[in-house]
Amino acid sequence: MGQPYEYRRRELVEPDWARFPGWRDITREQWESAQWQRVHCIKNARQLRAVLGDLIADSFYDDLLADQAASATMSMLVTPQMLNTMSVESTEAFYADPVRRYMIPVGSDRRADWPSHPHATRDSLHEHDMWVAEGLTHRYPTKVLAELLSTCPQYCGHCTRMDLVGNSTPAVDKLKLTLKPTDRYDAHVAYLRAHPGVRDVVVSGGDVANVPWRHLESYLMRLLDIETIRDIRLATKALMGLPQHWLQPDVVEGLERVARTAARRGVNLAIHTHVNHANSLTPLVARAAQTALEVGVRDVRNQGVLMRGVNATGADLLDLCFALQGEAGILPYYFYMCDMIPNAEHWRVPVWQAQELQHDIMGYLPGYATPRIVCDVPLVGKRWVHMVTEYDREHGISYWTKNYRTSIEQEDDEALARRYPYYDPIDTLPESGQKWWRKQEQSA
Ligand code: SF4
Repeated sequence: MGQPYEYRRRELVEPDWARFPGWRDITREQWESAQWQRVHCIKNARQLRAVLGDLIADSFYDDLLADQAASATMSMLVTPQMLNTMSVESTEAFYADPVRRYMIPVGSDRRADWPSHPHATRDSLHEHDMWVAEGLTHRYPTKVLAELLSTCPQYCGHCTRMDLVGNSTPAVDKLKLTLKPTDRYDAHVAYLRAHPGVRDVVVSGGDVANVPWRHLESYLMRLLDIETIRDIRLATKALMGLPQHWLQPDVVEGLERVARTAARRGVNLAIHTHVNHANSLTPLVARAAQTALEVGVRDVRNQGVLMRGVNATGADLLDLCFALQGEAGILPYYFYMCDMIPNAEHWRVPVWQAQELQHDIMGYLPGYATPRIVCDVPLVGKRWVHMVTEYDREHGISYWTKNYRTSIEQEDDEALARRYPYYDPIDTLPESGQKWWRKQEQSA
């Protein structure tokens, strides 16, 4: 008998961009230029068609436009690097492509019956509610999330920060950061100086790759001046989506200065990236990760998002983890279940399935590189998927507890005694459960 998963080493390859009619004459030098990649990002159906030529049927673009007009919570922004990892052999292959399914969502991907869960919300994790300064979310006792800006070099259809990140779409009018960046950064530093119990800062956005390097370096150096800060994690999907950014000489040199200062002060400096499928890992991504490690970043870790149609099988997750760990020097760290944001039901998986997937990936990778699958429970924070306290499978409601107060519950006596609900996608429930939710909707 064979194993449920057979490991075979697969070396990374950079797919040939010349297979795209619009990029036939693009040189390696152009391809490896961050500037060229940024200027040639795909922002709309017309630009996509110009690159794909007649590789994909016209009906795809109608499907895309329909989605953008009615359902998309993120505007379109796809780097050439990412488009090049999608399959364009046929319209069917493009439709089925796992990276296409979350970077270029179309109307027919979404569920017509339950496009959104009734409990889905724009800021499902209440990050904005927990701002202690503009862009600074204090959710866990010892850690903060610092959103330096609200843009990324690429926009993911499932973005959990769809409330704030990116341009407004017909479906979502985005929140705006209003302070000048320097005032925002000053407010963060002032809060961290005044709260020595906070030791860990996730520097994010958006994506830090969109912060001009000298501003980012100055922000990081100011954090490194605060003696109580012991961990700094830079959040950048661009390490995969635009590795060219992290290979630019001025960025590499700047990162080395920051890493040296962090090492001298005993602070753990890491990069957290966001890769959802093995196809996204190419030699250029591996080179960017390796370069960060060479200049002294202590670790490069991956936080993927678990999504139906993208990576929600044991084999997909293991393929990705082995490519990260064995070929790219990136530690498989977490898979987050896709959050309860609007129009995301076709991506979300139920808790029981996430538990099964955690079970299926155990024992293949080194223990330290076996990722945890986590559920980010609203008002709780991330929990390993087996930490559920009670689970009503019929109605798809799981209940979770927590052991700390968020910044909005300091005076709440019940916060640690309460059970907090999380909801499975309704289409995954037994018929009796689906009927119950239909009834709830009718009587609402
Ligand atoms: S890179 Fe991160 S913050 Fe930016 S759109 Fe994607 S998920 Fe959202």
